[in-house]
Amino acid sequence: MAVLSRCSRAATAATTRTQTATATFSCILRALSPSFCSSSALNSETDLSNKKPAVLGTLKREPTGRNVQWVFLGCPGVGKGTYASRLSNLLGVPHIATGDLVRDELASSGPLSSQLKEIVNQGKLVSDEIIIELLSKCLEAGEAKGESGFILDGFPRTIRQAEILEGVTDIELVVNLKLREEALLAKCLGRRICSECGGNYNVACIDIKAENGRPGMYMAPLPPPPQCATKLITRADDTEEVVKERLRIYHEMTQPVEEFYRSRGKLLEFDLPGGIPESWPKLLRALNLEYHEDKQSAAA
Ligand code: AMP
Repeated sequence: MAVLSRCSRAATAATTRTQTATATFSCILRALSPSFCSSSALNSETDLSNKKPAVLGTLKREPTGRNVQWVFLGCPGVGKGTYASRLSNLLGVPHIATGDLVRDELASSGPLSSQLKEIVNQGKLVSDEIIIELLSKCLEAGEAKGESGFILDGFPRTIRQAEILEGVTDIELVVNLKLREEALLAKCLGRRICSECGGNYNVACIDIKAENGRPGMYMAPLPPPPQCATKLITRADDTEEVVKERLRIYHEMTQPVEEFYRSRGKLLEFDLPGGIPESWPKLLRALNLEYHEDKQSAAA
């Protein structure tokens, strides 16, 4: 913690906000990543093609006790939160969703809250500086609790964020979740959150018929348990207009991040075949984690 406090003080003295955020982030990630200075299992020479990231060949099948540093990319509504949180439980590492950090800040009526509300409710991206500041605080709190490793969800979302992250830690693997465009909007509009426990549910029933040689796709609703059913809320940015803007911004600002990691041989493309029962076992297989597949799919 002393190191972190020193870093924070040094960062405060830095001349620009960007330098401040970067310096703090750097120190925190360095503290989290013992292998920060060592050479990576994956580097830009390892695999520049669009094959499976080389790290997958070296993963242990026994998932617990692994110190992973993974990122989940994908359009709004694709299910990053669902699968990142399941993997976080399976692997015993924190799931850090920057969207949740932003919403916590919004709810806190802190100094940033009114500024953030306008940006988020219009479906725009929060500035890189603010998001790195929120992420740094979260990592600092995790470090104080003895956490290490992470699954990032919703970060990085710009090339600049990706460059900062790449400069301070060694991301092993980036999972790029993909879902048919026609399902994304419906999934966002159907999303419901329990205002008490924070559980995520979905009332949408997606049933895309097979057409022109493309297979159909069925995704069952994910209903809340009875204790949550009367406490459901909808995110303010899950309206049709705002979701369309978030999708547009994803294509403009975040899609280039896919190429950033693809060119470094870290990107695993994963097309979701349907809902959780079909997708979760396939994702585990793609991650070479099939060892626990049966137990987990039974829990889906
Ligand atoms: P999400 O829950 O991931 O959909 O994020 C909700 C909102 O939080 C986004 O629409 C952005 O306004 C903001 N946000 C989350 N993560 C980031 C990020 N990495 N960079 C900029 N803005 C973000």
